[in-house]
Amino acid sequence: MSNKIKVFKIKAVTASPFYTGEVREEEKRASRVNFPVRKTATGRVIVPFKGALRSSLEQLLRANGEQVCDTGQPKARPCGRCVLCDLFGSMREKARATVSFLISEQDKSQIVREATHIKINRENGSVSDTFKGEEVIEGTVFNGVILVENPKPKDEELIKAAIKYLEAAGVGGWKSRGYGKMKFEIEVEEAEKSKFLRN
Ligand SMILES: [Zn+2]
Repeated sequence: MSNKIKVFKIKAVTASPFYTGEVREEEKRASRVNFPVRKTATGRVIVPFKGALRSSLEQLLRANGEQVCDTGQPKARPCGRCVLCDLFGSMREKARATVSFLISEQDKSQIVREATHIKINRENGSVSDTFKGEEVIEGTVFNGVILVENPKPKDEELIKAAIKYLEAAGVGGWKSRGYGKMKFEIEVEEAEKSKFLRN
């Protein structure tokens, strides 16, 4: 076991409106809008990032013909044998990568706007429904960190490939409506494990 870890500092800046995706039921019930963004107890906006990273790599590597699991399938479980299970964990193995949420630098009140969305009835072009959602504005800065224990030579390449993929595909909800474009910056460094993790 190495006492070094690799630290990936991630900075993400929204380049289009952004919707965080799923929220907890209690947040939904407490909100005036149908689709609130996710937030911390202190009022920052948070974006779950680990699932996005893993599913990007599953799609990328599978498209290259590599044998990795496909946890996006209904009832799918991590296989416990592939390179992604080794990095992100499975039932059998602890993850080597610890992926934080992306957290906004600013308070929600400064970066979130309310928008009304309209559903059009395709038959006759009339408005069939409207709903309200919160969205993060363009130019908002989020920060996160990925810590990788017992680093392997391929980890950096994998994580950078996932981030490049997300930059093209978008993050969060409503991507087909043009939401979720982000520009990423990554800083990679080696650090003493004791500085970041205890166990
Ligand atoms: Zn697997």
